[in-house]
Amino acid sequence: MVDAQIVRPGDAAHGELARALNRRFAGSPDEIHRVRDTADVVAAVTRAVHTGRRIAVRGGGHCYEDFVAHPDVALLIDASGLDTVDWDAERGAFAVGAGATLGAVYKKLLKGWGVTIPGGSCHSVGVGGHFTGGGYGVLSRRHGLTIDHLEAVEVVVVDADGAVRAVLASRDPHDPHHDLWWAHTGGGGGTFGVVTRFWLRSPQAGAEPSRALPAPPAEVWLHAATWPWESLDRDGFDRLLANFGAWHERHADVADPYAGLASALLVPTRAAAGISLRSTMDATSPDAEPLLRAFVAEVGAEVGPAAPMTEQAGKVAALPEAAAPRRLKWAWANQLAAGTDLRLRAKYKSAFLRRGFTAAQREAIWASLAYGHPDAQLQLDSFGGAVNAVAADATAYPHRDSVLKAQWQAYWADAADDDRHLDWIRRAYRSVFADRGGVPVPDDQLDGCYVNYPDVDLSDPAWNTSDTPWSALYFGGNYERLQRVKARWDPTDTFRHAQSVRLP
Ligand SMILES: Cc1cc2nc3c(=O)[nH]c(=O)nc-3n(C[C@H](O)[C@H](O)[C@H](O)COP(=O)(O)OP(=O)(O)OC[C@H]3O[C@@H](n4cnc5c(N)ncnc54)[C@H](O)[C@@H]3O)c2cc1C
Repeated sequence: MVDAQIVRPGDAAHGELARALNRRFAGSPDEIHRVRDTADVVAAVTRAVHTGRRIAVRGGGHCYEDFVAHPDVALLIDASGLDTVDWDAERGAFAVGAGATLGAVYKKLLKGWGVTIPGGSCHSVGVGGHFTGGGYGVLSRRHGLTIDHLEAVEVVVVDADGAVRAVLASRDPHDPHHDLWWAHTGGGGGTFGVVTRFWLRSPQAGAEPSRALPAPPAEVWLHAATWPWESLDRDGFDRLLANFGAWHERHADVADPYAGLASALLVPTRAAAGISLRSTMDATSPDAEPLLRAFVAEVGAEVGPAAPMTEQAGKVAALPEAAAPRRLKWAWANQLAAGTDLRLRAKYKSAFLRRGFTAAQREAIWASLAYGHPDAQLQLDSFGGAVNAVAADATAYPHRDSVLKAQWQAYWADAADDDRHLDWIRRAYRSVFADRGGVPVPDDQLDGCYVNYPDVDLSDPAWNTSDTPWSALYFGGNYERLQRVKARWDPTDTFRHAQSVRLP
């Protein structure tokens, strides 16, 4: 007997739970198990194993690909009921249910104990997928990735003989399950088992809850500006991208006075209004406002004047204008940056950059932006800082010396437009890495792709003509160890999707 509410085709909740946020993907599971505790998860997984049904787990439903909402998945676990966020005095760490959303975690941690996690932006993202892939946000240059604060994880796994059990794995290197913890510091979701709970505590923190995780800055400066396309010629565009890259190369150290700065350069097609720069700076750090102004001036040097932020270019109309950084309480700023929960069709691609884009890459980007669809862009995010203070093999997430993260995005509403927009984003991306087989093959300038922005084209020889497979792009030198963990903890490959870690 399965002790969980089971949703079946025809039930009111089935349609929405079987779909992903990304409207390109919908599954048709026979059963959706709305689990409430670890015992429910064990029962649901046991049922899938005994009936030979393909299983998947859904956290917040934000996966960029069809890893959850897939036609072959017959039994879906909806983890959203595992949403508690509490201080666990016994472990001396925050216990976060794997079905919680980022927004709920932010709110609970801040109101309860005055602490936070480094990020993500969108508050409806589920921690089940987000934490397992790394978890980057505006505080990452100061405090690292969210998984840099992962103390332990509880995972429901399937043994070789089909037995299902919950395992607790911790950061303690003497823990016999330590390798399972490590795999959950960036090995990606849906690969090793079902996470029921994460415990969070910063590595050197004691067991006092108000010090167990980073405190956010009490206030931040927010700044936003747009360079309208009318004011940008080819040279101005090139200068803007080059300036943004060069600035980040110089300011990636964790001790840099700009460690409290996170900035995004949004570079949409020329059918949109213009290029926007959105920045958040820890207002409590010394000289924060003049530093922020100096940053904006450096990025815009010889580009031309920035205009006030327009509503079209930035989704948050309440942000301040170019000439006037605005000081806000952290909680409000974090809420403003929460992002949208658009139920649209979408496609994304990513690249980590150890240095800014080369002139040839900037030329390819410029050419790709001559596309008549305004809702398509390249987003460049500040990286480095505390993220880079961790060794590349200390966590499964390997990208520990990049200074920027690039993300190509396209959004649209109508399925009839799928081919057109997919073709644009694929070609745009391939053109930038044309000399590396169409993908950001790790070298002294590039460092592969972000597993939390999965892209099945990386597995497609038509779009990845390099000899670097998707697994090396996501996991670098950590992939073999991840495969060994997979062999130990999921020897029957019960938990799999198009880009899950393969058995050795
Ligand atoms: C609007 C938006 C904003 C984003 N912003 C950021 C950002 O600021 N920073 C950042 O780093 N990333 C960001 N992301 C990426 C995000 O971290 C990933 O999409 C993440 O995988 C979403 O997790 P989910 O639980 O919502 O998704 P789901 O689709 O539910 O799951 C994603 C994957 O994780 C697996 N999974 C989910 N729950 C569990 C579980 N309990 N146990 C095991 N596996 C599980 C699923 O099976 C699937 O393979 C963003 C994504 C979107 C759509």
